[in-house]
Formats: sequence, C-alpha cells, structure tokens
Amino acid sequence: MSYVMLTADQALESLLAGNERYVNAKLTHPHQTIEHRTALVEGQRPFAVILGCADSRVPPEIIFDHGLGDLFVVRVAGNVVDDIVLGSIEYAVLHLHTPLIMVLGHANCGAVVETLKGENLEGHLPSLVRAIKPAIDKIKDQSVDLLDKAIRANANRSAEQIRAARPILYELVKADKLKVVTAYYDLASGKVEVIS
Ligand SMILES: [Zn+2]
Repeated sequence: MSYVMLTADQALESLLAGNERYVNAKLTHPHQTIEHRTALVEGQRPFAVILGCADSRVPPEIIFDHGLGDLFVVRVAGNVVDDIVLGSIEYAVLHLHTPLIMVLGHANCGAVVETLKGENLEGHLPSLVRAIKPAIDKIKDQSVDLLDKAIRANANRSAEQIRAARPILYELVKADKLKVVTAYYDLASGKVEVIS
C-alpha cells in the first residue's frame, strides 16, 4: 500500500481533529475496515507515537478517533520513560519514520496520586514511584492543584527525557526531524490539551 507521509505539525493536527470528533461524539472510526486491516499486513507507517498511561480510561485510538496503523502506542502506568520505552519509541522513529511523539498525561492519574502519597508500596510499585518522584520533587511546595501540577510536570519530564535520549532521539530533535510534545487529557470532557 502507499503511505501518506505527514509532517509533525500535520500529525498533531490530525490527532487534535480526531480528539475534537471524540469530544463532540462525532466519531468516524477511520481505518477499521477489513480492507484497511488487510492492506496493513505488509507494513505500517504510524504518524504519531503516543506515550500514554496504562489507565483504562485513556485509550489513544478511541480518544483520538483513529484506527489501525495510525498510532504507535506505548502505554505504561504514569507514562514514565525507561530504556525499554525509549527503545520502543526509537523503533517507531527510526524504522517507521514517525515524525511526532506525544507524551499524554491525564487527570486523576493513579500512579501520580500514589507517588504524591509517598507511602510504602508493595511488589514492584516502588519502581514506578521512583520514576515519577523527581518530577514531583520540583513542585512540592505548590499546594494548590498539586495533583494536576504533578501530572503535568511528570508528563513534561518524560518529554524532556525523550528529547535528551542520545544519540538517536536527541539528534533527530536537534535536526528538527522529530517533534516531541506534551499533552494533558481531561477525563470528564474528553479533551486533549497540548501543554508544551
Ligand atoms: Zn495514569
């Protein structure tokens, strides 16, 4: 199949247009036919990487009203970055030529809530808290809307880590061949707001 190559700005526009359809209950469910599924067997050219939270209320294909082959989605609680996440993103950018990365934080993120509580957690949960805590330490003094600020700070920090990931992502961002944006999803309205 032939692919339409989007620029980073066109990719962002397409995401936000899909989100607007979702917010207004005007979903078009694109790229979900049998024909489209079959056409994708030989390859994919997703136009955006979404690093989002594993939270069941924030499924990227639904909230952006897109379909098969459109989004390269990496989901992990708290939308945190580690080497496995960076490797996944690098695969999309290098091998699938995805021009845009969006880190998507969301309202009432449980991973951020737990990190703010600072209690002792069981099993592997402390690893998650360790990954989120540095973003929150920076804003600890701001008591008004602390959770919301922490969620945004955490998403921004992930975006910074992606931009700083040497050599691949760092170089591509520097050369203006890759764009990394941060966004915030409001659970109630369904709206995605680009924050940086
Ligand atoms: Zn979350």
